[in-house]
Amino acid sequence: MLNNNIKELLKNSKKIALVGHIMPDGDTTGSCLALAYALESLGKDVFLFCQDDIPDNLCFLEGCEKFNNELTPDNKYFDLIFALDCSDPERLGIFKKLLELNEQTINIDHHVSNTEFASLNWVDPNAAATCELIYELIESLNIHIDINIANALYTGISTDTGNFSYSNTTSKTHSIAAQLLTLGVKPEEISNNLYRNNSLERVKLIARVIDTIELYKHGQISTIEITKDMLTKVGADEKESSGMVGYAKDIKGVELALLFKEQEDGQIKVSMRSKNIIDCNKLANIFGGGGHARAAGCTINSSLYDAKIIVLEEAKKLF
Ligand code: 5GP
Ligand code: MN
Repeated sequence: MLNNNIKELLKNSKKIALVGHIMPDGDTTGSCLALAYALESLGKDVFLFCQDDIPDNLCFLEGCEKFNNELTPDNKYFDLIFALDCSDPERLGIFKKLLELNEQTINIDHHVSNTEFASLNWVDPNAAATCELIYELIESLNIHIDINIANALYTGISTDTGNFSYSNTTSKTHSIAAQLLTLGVKPEEISNNLYRNNSLERVKLIARVIDTIELYKHGQISTIEITKDMLTKVGADEKESSGMVGYAKDIKGVELALLFKEQEDGQIKVSMRSKNIIDCNKLANIFGGGGHARAAGCTINSSLYDAKIIVLEEAKKLF
């Protein structure tokens, strides 16, 4: 069993790095924090890395401030590296370097597009969230799940399943969540932090962003846009622009929603969501991205206008 191989590697490791993906979400953040607390309880020295800031709505999680966003000369070499919720080395951003500098690397993920880039790979596309796999790992190591671990795991599972509503939600998802509730998680408290704690700037941004929605292919494809100018106009920052593609998806008759977001560096981040049929991972692959069948993404180096034209052209072919 794969967990036994991980156990073996852990036995001989003291200094351990956990890396989350760029533009972190609840799953990568929750996986890193939960595993960090678990490994610390085994007496390991744990270092957390994530290139980008943890979004405000996740900052209620205990330990969020422990993430490092740069590599220092004395923190480059580790006995063991874990990449969590990262489908390929690019998703580690600047911390991709850790994979080159260190020999023992473990990749734990649930993306169907995972490239199995580590020396040990545990990829299960049937898991709704990487946090489900981290739960299994912690259980198999017989580590006590304290409230910090439980809250982190519940957060990752909640955010990756659309609060237990997407098609990736399984009976296993619910039984893990049930266990976490037994261990003290308060679902209302977590949901209030995650979903009902918007700044006024974010709400004003939502109004502008919703106003950009357009329909194509007889209402089966929707597009939605976020520009840097919109952020400036309402005084919101980049971190407050997450999770908007859902507004385009939730329209009656829409099968595929495409969000185009202008990034700080001028590149366009595309988020893709489908309801039942269209394979978003396949569409994202065309542009060098990836993800899952119902949720995927990619980055395109062009204007927002051009990105929209080329992605729509490929998207229409899938119907
Ligand atoms: P989001 O649209 O929320 O950024 O991402 C949706 C899903 O697609 C997530 O599971 C995420 O990991 C994946 N994803 C988003 N952007 C990229 C990308 O540029 N490359 C790859 N490989 N996966 C991505
Ligand atoms: Mn995930």
